[in-house]
Amino acid sequence: MILSVPHKICENVWALGNRAFPSFLLRTPNGLYILEPELSCNLSLIEKQLKTIGFSLKEIDGCIVLHEHYDHVMMVPGLKALNPEIEIFVPLKSERFLQKESLLAYRLFDEFTCEKLNLPTAETETKMGFNTYDESTHIDGIEFIHTPGHSPFSYTALFNGTAFVSDAAGFWGEKLKFPLYFQSFERYIESIEKIAKIRPHTVITGHFSYFSKDEADKMLKESIKMAEQLKKRLEGKTLDEETVKTLYREIYRDEFLLYPEEVIKSVARYIIKRSVEV
Ligand SMILES: [Zn+2]
Repeated sequence: MILSVPHKICENVWALGNRAFPSFLLRTPNGLYILEPELSCNLSLIEKQLKTIGFSLKEIDGCIVLHEHYDHVMMVPGLKALNPEIEIFVPLKSERFLQKESLLAYRLFDEFTCEKLNLPTAETETKMGFNTYDESTHIDGIEFIHTPGHSPFSYTALFNGTAFVSDAAGFWGEKLKFPLYFQSFERYIESIEKIAKIRPHTVITGHFSYFSKDEADKMLKESIKMAEQLKKRLEGKTLDEETVKTLYREIYRDEFLLYPEEVIKSVARYIIKRSVEV
């Protein structure tokens, strides 16, 4: 299913922001949390959307980052500036990605993507405190499983039987579907298997799509198949500029056009690297 925003996905879970870069509102017995603070331009959207569903930004208790890439963290500074009381939760050891230098680098990518979406960027506050989490952490009934392979610090959040997998099972756009094993092919597959074992009733990805009931299991199996097929196709190639350029040209289309060229070139480079390494 393609997300619409704002939209109640299931009891106590709403999709907000932009459907290409969604954020989620979780209502727990003790508080309200925003999961996946994707882009800085999500903030003005979310402020308005919260009002339409009967909440306000001031009521939000916490914001949870699921992995350290720019398109999954850039709303944090603006959010913190608007509501300094909000607690920010980031995967253990990933704090440096929300510090000054990373944010400055991320800022350019964020501006590119927000411009593509025709949305205004929000300010970048650079000094922030964080709470970290790992698999032993529970936040008001929200649990976490470490699902690396896409990135070293990728986590899946579990809440009321719903698995928020972020990019751990690939990119599921309306048109473009693509595996995202940037860190390690093996870990990527293991992580998807780990999610499948939990048998979530709904799987929500970091971009565009969510899958309920039988669709959830089918999607996870399909994610593994998609990765295996791509790896097989790239095996035997070498990590050289020509190969990178060829894959980049093939995949820089549809929803990937929301990302800067440089980012998609890195996607191509990482995918080839992880496909050919032994
Ligand atoms: Zn990512």
